[in-house]
Amino acid sequence: MGFRKFTDIQKSLFMKFAWKIMVEDSLWSHFFRAKYLRQNHISLVDRGKGTRFWRMVASCIPEVLNLSKWKIKNGNISFWFDKWLDEGPLCNLVPMGDSPILQVTELKMENGWDVVKLHDIVGEELAGKVLEVLCKSREGVDVLIWTASKDGKFSTKSAWNCVRTTAPKVRWADWVWHPCIPKNISVNMWKFFNNALSVDDRIKSIGIPLASKCDCCVHGAYENRDHVLANGDIAKEVWRITYAQMGLGRTTGTSWNQIVEEWFFTASKTSQLGHLLGIIPSIVTWSLWLRRCKARAEGVKDSAITVWYNIKTWIGKVG
Ligand SMILES: [Zn+2]
Repeated sequence: MGFRKFTDIQKSLFMKFAWKIMVEDSLWSHFFRAKYLRQNHISLVDRGKGTRFWRMVASCIPEVLNLSKWKIKNGNISFWFDKWLDEGPLCNLVPMGDSPILQVTELKMENGWDVVKLHDIVGEELAGKVLEVLCKSREGVDVLIWTASKDGKFSTKSAWNCVRTTAPKVRWADWVWHPCIPKNISVNMWKFFNNALSVDDRIKSIGIPLASKCDCCVHGAYENRDHVLANGDIAKEVWRITYAQMGLGRTTGTSWNQIVEEWFFTASKTSQLGHLLGIIPSIVTWSLWLRRCKARAEGVKDSAITVWYNIKTWIGKVG
């Protein structure tokens, strides 16, 4: 629903600090570099040492390095440890020779690059790729590019987008969150999908004992989501009327999920009828839920026909 996890936000902020230490020319970043990195490359930092704040920042460094890449200009970056090839830092690709502090700029010659030395240290296979990147370099200061955003600049929002885990999108999300449907109905649909509305079955499942009795059948059955919305006497009848009124054949679905899925499957955005078919499941579900709550709270048990009239009114309003 768009709520952000605090831990994800916090992590994206620590990533921002890590990024600043890597690129910023400020008293703050100089201090941290001097205190924790000294002459070492940032990828080699000991993540277990230092203050709690620093350890949080340091724990994000690998991810920030992974999501960034140097654009070489004057080449004042580490040949082995900085990532300036798409494939990753060279130290991960070939055995490092006896000059770990080599800088890219040291391979520069008067008019070009020291091809012989390159072949020597990275091997023939990689040398071509390395040279291709080096030959594109222009004068100026090397730039660290944040690969997770289009403009190459770091933003906490893009970092957050990288660290968060997204739930798979529900196929019919566009119908449930359709602009024609009032938000409270959409939210309720979302709750139904996640089995989060307070039917007896749910209340029992969180440890509150109660004798369940529905408000829709003559003899009173056990109340769960599917009973209220799909299988109970009222729900069955309301869906039957809705199918008939829309000129559709009977459903083969027995659970609420199957029924609404069937509707969403038939819906399409290319015609007015298609649109209506996509909106109806939410309206029917909402009306059935309203009926159930009214029966519980006020003791008024609407008939299936009354529920259908309510649905028709709703359709008139949103359609
Ligand atoms: Zn019932």
